[in-house]
Amino acid sequence: MTTATRVLVLNSGSSSVKYQLVDMADGTRLASGLVERIGEEGGVADHAEALRQVARDLTGKGLGLDSPELAAVGHRVVHGGTRFTEPTLITDEVVAEIEELVPLAPLHNPANITGIKVARELRPDLPQVAVFDTAFHATLPEAAARYAIDAATADRYGIRRYGFHGTSHAYVSRATAALLGKEPADVNVIVLHLGNGASASAVQGGVCVDTSMGLTPLEGLVMGTRSGDIDPGVVFHLERVGGLSADEIDTLLNKRSGLLGLCGANDMREIGRRMGEGDADARLAFDVYVHRLRRYIGAFTAVLGRVDAIAFTAGVGENSASVRAAAVRDLEALGIELDPVHNAVRASGARLVSAASSRVAVAVVPTDEEWEIARDTYRLAGG
Ligand code: ADP
Repeated sequence: MTTATRVLVLNSGSSSVKYQLVDMADGTRLASGLVERIGEEGGVADHAEALRQVARDLTGKGLGLDSPELAAVGHRVVHGGTRFTEPTLITDEVVAEIEELVPLAPLHNPANITGIKVARELRPDLPQVAVFDTAFHATLPEAAARYAIDAATADRYGIRRYGFHGTSHAYVSRATAALLGKEPADVNVIVLHLGNGASASAVQGGVCVDTSMGLTPLEGLVMGTRSGDIDPGVVFHLERVGGLSADEIDTLLNKRSGLLGLCGANDMREIGRRMGEGDADARLAFDVYVHRLRRYIGAFTAVLGRVDAIAFTAGVGENSASVRAAAVRDLEALGIELDPVHNAVRASGARLVSAASSRVAVAVVPTDEEWEIARDTYRLAGG
């Protein structure tokens, strides 16, 4: 008899479905892929069709969904609200509760729910698990989670800091402890997840105590196309003086701001190239991005009191030596010293880039959200 040790991880986004098939027995990735342009020209019609495409891809690789070795399916779900603070075995009731959270994440949760429904139709017998982007931040103390607005209004509309990228922050903070040869309980880490979306978190002894994203993923760091922190007064000004609607302002701040809004490019590689050619807009975008990052490093240093490590992760964090260098430049007073040679080396694994004399370790730790989801899923499925 074969034991089922494989977990299919599904990440159903608004216009794409990413999948990865992981064998938990030895951690191997058996297959991965992406179905893009859902509902767009040249793509598949809808999420149901995208999931069927994933199933066909897997069958084509001899790894069909009907395999007895498949133990469970893990679904990334963006918003768990205050209801879901841990990975959760999916039932009809859980699906209904995730649906109730749609107003908190109108762009993300609907696609996640469709992915869950279709996967459950394909394999109704299989345990399926929802792993929430917000869950790792459920430990935030009230002082960090609460916005200082009228309490009754906040409670009525569920307005508080939820945080996102939780699977990445959880994985990277643990991997950073391992890199230092310590238990997560013994280290305080600032995790800087710098991808197209970007967020920072303060993790104290394995427990998340602060994070930069809020009610939505719009708050905090400067991102590829999102503004991050702005004065909320900007929104009223755009409405009253600019005549923009709520939807238009939403699109402006989420899709046409950040690096893209500042210089017309949201890819840090292009910004680096243009800076090399003396492009002033690219330079300013880089400087605004780095300035915000440094503010959060300072803020989270104060939140943690003692910082053992700063971990850079995701596309920009793992690959851009210049962003890392600028983010921690001249912070010797905080015990942070980079080793410029180590920092400049291009490598793929988790590694230290700080000087031997640095009190705070500076690390590059590649994130692995699929692995984190597979691990949570397998555990809940009884593996
Ligand atoms: P997502 O949030 O979409 O998962 P990623 O974590 O893959 O994003 O990060 C994507 C971003 O990483 C790109 O927009 C690009 O700016 C950046 N990036 C990727 N490779 C490099 C590189 N070699 N140097 C600088 N930035 C890079």
